[in-house]
Amino acid sequence: MKSVRLVEFGSSLQWEEKQDPEPKDSEVLLEVISCGVCHSDLHLRDGYYKIGGEEKLFVKDRGVKLPLTPGHEVVGRILKIGSKVSSVSVGETKLVYPWIGCGTCEECESGNPQLCSAPKSLGIYQDGGYSDRILVPDEKWLLDIYDLSPEYACSYACAGLTAYGALKKALPLKKSDSLVIIGAGGLGMFASQLVPLLTEAKVIFLDLDESRLEKLKEIGFYTVPSSHPDPASEVKKISGPLGVSAVIDFVNNSATSSLGFSLLKKNGTLIGVGLFGGELKIPTPILSLRSLTIRGSYTGSPGELKELLRLVSEKKIRPVPVQIRNLREADSALNDLSSGKVLGRLVLSGKSA
Ligand SMILES: [Zn+2]
Ligand SMILES: [Zn+2]
Repeated sequence: MKSVRLVEFGSSLQWEEKQDPEPKDSEVLLEVISCGVCHSDLHLRDGYYKIGGEEKLFVKDRGVKLPLTPGHEVVGRILKIGSKVSSVSVGETKLVYPWIGCGTCEECESGNPQLCSAPKSLGIYQDGGYSDRILVPDEKWLLDIYDLSPEYACSYACAGLTAYGALKKALPLKKSDSLVIIGAGGLGMFASQLVPLLTEAKVIFLDLDESRLEKLKEIGFYTVPSSHPDPASEVKKISGPLGVSAVIDFVNNSATSSLGFSLLKKNGTLIGVGLFGGELKIPTPILSLRSLTIRGSYTGSPGELKELLRLVSEKKIRPVPVQIRNLREADSALNDLSSGKVLGRLVLSGKSA
């Protein structure tokens, strides 16, 4: 088993080779075919999130222990199964649902392990897919990818699921409603593919990067550059003067969240998703007088990921562009992601180990 591991926060990842683990009971050992490189892997390597001003939220205080193999967007081929495994077989290609929990709390039992208070997510709290092997603790976390190719399917475990989970919280919307999506990067790109399948409402994208907005405009979305001196009035020219029914904020920093909040019409909902860091100050009487909702959204449930994979396969959604890198280049892939040089998704190939 060859893996790229985080040994010290703030340092480069390190190459490690050891014997393949033996799957026991319900465990399944997969050969990693593709593993997506995600922005949250950068926070993991840094060891913290920014939470406004100079304040930091340290990942070690959230229970992350080193050494750790990152990587939570994994498609692999089953190599070996434990003695109690009955629903999957050696040779099958599966997407790994990574947001697993303790298995016994209220959230886990209601099908929302992503909200477990003792999370055991793969690639964050347990070893993930920056490797040529991954040991999955239970067969139930392995999902069908239908006719999707592994390098495209892997990103649905995080980026795709996060976009889908957030969109579902904005629904239902009527045709006359407006939905604002802040951020046209990775998550925004997934949302732009999914949103026409889920609602007929007007969708308005905001981003600082005008070339991204140009592409969205070409495929029929409304767009407003965030750099506009008064983006709120530009949005209201499209939505109508009362404002919008929902805002999904894939950036979620101080500026975008307060802009998002200011765009809501009565009974509207602001859904914070991004982890760029910041804080939101709200006038509390406005919250009650306008009956507004502010809520967060974190990834999605296994049920939602199953739904999403079926939807993507049935509707023949055009995959977002991917760049494939050698597993040994994991660290430089993270550096490229950090510098904003990457268009589409970066995917590590387990076979290149
Ligand atoms: Zn991710
Ligand atoms: Zn739990």
